[in-house]
Amino acid sequence: MALPLNVLTALGRIVAPERVLTSLEDIIPYSFDGTAALQQMPGCVVFARKADQVAEILKLGNETKTAVVTRGSGTGLSGGSLPSEDCIVLCTVKMDKILELDRANLTMTVETGVTTLQVADADTAAGLFYTTDPGSMKISTIGGKVAENSGGLRGLKYGVTRNYVMGLEVALPSGQLMWTGNKCVKDVAGYSLKDLFVGSEGTLGVITKILLRLIPKPAAKKTMVATFSRMDHAADSVSAIIAARIIPCTLEFLDRTTIHCVEDYAKIGLPLDCEALLLMETDGHPAVVAEEAAQMEQICRKCGCLEVRVAKDDVEAARLSNARRSAFSALARVAPTTILEDATVPRSELARMIRFVEEIARKYKLRIGTFGHMGDGNLHPTFLTDERNKEEMHRVEEAFKEIFDEAIRLGGTITGEHGVGLAKKSFLPKFAGDAQMEVMRQLRHVLDPNGILNPGKMFDAAGKCER
Ligand SMILES: Cc1cc2nc3c(=O)[nH]c(=O)nc-3n(C[C@H](O)[C@H](O)[C@H](O)COP(=O)(O)OP(=O)(O)OC[C@H]3O[C@@H](n4cnc5c(N)ncnc54)[C@H](O)[C@@H]3O)c2cc1C
Repeated sequence: MALPLNVLTALGRIVAPERVLTSLEDIIPYSFDGTAALQQMPGCVVFARKADQVAEILKLGNETKTAVVTRGSGTGLSGGSLPSEDCIVLCTVKMDKILELDRANLTMTVETGVTTLQVADADTAAGLFYTTDPGSMKISTIGGKVAENSGGLRGLKYGVTRNYVMGLEVALPSGQLMWTGNKCVKDVAGYSLKDLFVGSEGTLGVITKILLRLIPKPAAKKTMVATFSRMDHAADSVSAIIAARIIPCTLEFLDRTTIHCVEDYAKIGLPLDCEALLLMETDGHPAVVAEEAAQMEQICRKCGCLEVRVAKDDVEAARLSNARRSAFSALARVAPTTILEDATVPRSELARMIRFVEEIARKYKLRIGTFGHMGDGNLHPTFLTDERNKEEMHRVEEAFKEIFDEAIRLGGTITGEHGVGLAKKSFLPKFAGDAQMEVMRQLRHVLDPNGILNPGKMFDAAGKCER
């Protein structure tokens, strides 16, 4: 069943007819996101330019019981912006204005479709710093980032997206636009509703504007790479660095498979004769940076590293960071299907979890490249597979189940930063338990009684809207 003509005509009236795409060749690019092996055609794709258009679209969806799936740049890795059948895909990329840089309060107000890089560049130009930097920062939208509560390479020291959201404007299915939060550093008036929408994955409302917290740009930075002949030596170094009370801004690792794929792809000059590589970055006051860098180098040597290389200038530092940022794209070149996960454990359990992933790869005879935010305990075991091989895909699914079970058993979580979406919704009840699941369902029902927002994501109940 296609979208009824009256819905398409009303959408055209709200945003202009040329901003409503319906032909197959136009909507195919919006039928999947960054998640492997998932595709579904929407009923149409609509580009909103303003918050009040978003509110009107939601009101229309609610009145006609038409599903609305919000989409930023579609780089999500849990199927969050995957369309449901005959839904309206509400694309936010045209809402791309930086509205205000408030130097007195160190805040920036942006529309939801601004990219992470646009924010980072504007802040750098003003001597300020927006800290969260996902590997996808060149294209991911700030709205998508808030909706996923994304992390990035600097999460260890600076935290995740949530820590830098001071306020939000949100459109609700009722057609209302609501502001929550403000520029006050302290505010305890009522429930912190903005926090409810951070990480809500498009299931509670559509974020239209975001008030971001900025910090002063660190005066100095040092970037280093350490190589190891054994993965557990790298994991031990991470634990020892944290135990020495050093919190570097970046502590990322790549395993052998990933190092080779990245080098093949980006030709950065990474050392290839090692099992693991740690990318370490410390920033702050120049004296502290120099001391921390020296300490980290010493710790890595004590833990048996092969070599520590210090980037000699900003250009080399950027090259090394980009090596890590390109890990997913590099792995994606070597197999038809790349399935990337983000099981996360307390840092103390990291070495155990890495060994477990290696065992699972052997047990199920699968090729896995692992990289990730080692300092945060956030791993990205990446299966290099082929979705056309049903038998192998079955083994991949079984392997994932074991990895998630083990993460939960070790006190970890099924997703550290990519969200639940479709890909992990079957694991959420076991992780969250009955009471949490029930509260989440009730919250959703209050805000979206007809279940029009991103139905079928995160959980099923109250998710299906029937016309
Ligand atoms: C190469 C690569 C590297 C990546 N690196 C990282 C990383 O380091 N860290 C990390 O955390 N993630 C990473 N990701 C995942 C992804 O980029 C992030 O989740 C990103 O924040 C998603 O932004 P987006 O604009 O693409 O959102 P989309 O994929 O379009 O949407 C993501 C979810 O948010 C919802 N949504 C989008 N916009 C809104 C809105 N305005 N209001 C309400 N809901 C909305 C969607 O419905 C969907 O559920 C990476 C992805 C790729 C492909």
